[in-house]
Amino acid sequence: MIMIFLGPPGSGKGTQAKSLAGQLGVPHISLGDLLRDEVKRGTEIGQQAKAHMAAGHLVPDELTIELAEKRISQSDCQKGFIFDGFPRSAAQADALDKMFAEKKLTLDRVVYFNVSEEETVKRLLLRAGIEGRADDNAAAIRTRFEVYERSTRPLIEHYSKMGKLLEIDAARSIEAIGRDLAEIGRN
Ligand code: ADP
Repeated sequence: MIMIFLGPPGSGKGTQAKSLAGQLGVPHISLGDLLRDEVKRGTEIGQQAKAHMAAGHLVPDELTIELAEKRISQSDCQKGFIFDGFPRSAAQADALDKMFAEKKLTLDRVVYFNVSEEETVKRLLLRAGIEGRADDNAAAIRTRFEVYERSTRPLIEHYSKMGKLLEIDAARSIEAIGRDLAEIGRN
C-alpha cells in the first residue's frame, strides 16, 4: 500500500500516518522528521535545510526529492509506505510521479486532511508548548500556512485529476479520523 498524506501544518497527518503505518506494517516516511534528523546530525543536507525550516519555508526541492528517493529505495519500503509531508510542491509531485513510473510502483491513495487554519493554528501553538520545535512560533507558523496555500494546496487538484484523492474531515478527534483511515487502509 503506497499512500500520501496531504494537508496543512497541524492537520494531524503525522500522528495518523504513524498509527496507520504501524497497523499496515509499512514505514511512515515523514520528510520533516528526515530533515530534522539531518539537521541534528549536521550533515550537508541538514546544514542547507536548517534556516529554511526554522523560518517555515520549504527546503529546496532537490534536497527533499533526493531524501525521498533514497528512503523509498530502502528494502523496508518494498511492501509500501506512507509519505507524510511529501510532496509539498508541484516540482516534488512531478519528480515523485517519475520515480513511481521508473520503479514501476503504483500510488494507491492520497488522503487530504481538510481542516480550517483557525483549528490548526490552535493545535500548533499548543504543540509549541510541549515539543519546543524551532518552527512552532507565531511568525514561522504564518509562513508555513502561506507556503502551504501557495505551493502545496495545488497538489489537491493534481491528485484529484489522477483519481487518487480521498478527502477526510480532519477537524474531528484523533480516534474518529483513525477509524476512517483504518477503513481506507483495508480497501
Ligand atoms: P508541518 O507539517 O507541521 O509543517 P513537518 O514536520 O512536516 O511539519 O515539516 C517541517 C518543515 O520541514 C517544513 O516547514 C519545511 O521547512 C520542511 N519540510 C518538510 N517536508 C518538506 C518538503 N517536502 N519539501 C520542502 N520542505 C519540507
